Amino acid sequence: MLDEVRALLILQDRDRRLLALAKDLEKLPQDEARAKTKMAADETAVTRAHDAVLDCELRLKRLELDAGTRHTTIQRLKIQQFETRKNEEFQALKHEIVRYEKEVDNLETKELELMEELDKFRATHRAAEEARAHTRTLIAEDLASIGQRRERMEKERAEVEAEREMLAKQVPEAILPLYHRLMKTKVGLAIAPMHEGKCGGCHMKLIASTVVAVQTAKEITRCEDCGRILYVED
Ligand SMILES: [Zn+2]
Repeated sequence: MLDEVRALLILQDRDRRLLALAKDLEKLPQDEARAKTKMAADETAVTRAHDAVLDCELRLKRLELDAGTRHTTIQRLKIQQFETRKNEEFQALKHEIVRYEKEVDNLETKELELMEELDKFRATHRAAEEARAHTRTLIAEDLASIGQRRERMEKERAEVEAEREMLAKQVPEAILPLYHRLMKTKVGLAIAPMHEGKCGGCHMKLIASTVVAVQTAKEITRCEDCGRILYVED
């Protein structure tokens, strides 16, 4: 194998590692976004449960107000009843009082029912909040692990980049532009092995003179089809 091809192969190995790292790093924001969407369902559940509590509290408040108004009315009627001297009016007032007391009774029964309902809604709300807190912890763990992955990969990238600069200096300057052009156009594979007379990059059968040239390894030989630099593995 030609020395410059050997040097290019090592360079290509590092460049391929850098390409893979860049691709993995690019995926991390998506992973982060996906982790965060796990929160949405829990947020909705908490909001719904909280709305149910507020709604129930409001209904209870209305019942209490209604009962309160009737209590006041009963007090007023009792005073009127005490003050009247007409038996007919006394009886009418008594009848009214009984009617209002019945209403208050009904309202208080409903209040008790609503209080039980409210307890259930509050329990549901607490459970939803606990579930959300749990999810929040899981997401924080996910995000932390993604952050660690990013740190590791960025560190490796810096190391490989430094190493790559050193390796590039060991390649004859004249072939670097060709190498870089091929790396760009041939999706990260500029140097390909020759296997059974075929190019390892595009898999086309090579003409006999190319096969011989690659085997003798006297000069840089390229696939006549895709243009990749060819070599025979030692
Ligand atoms: Zn080829």
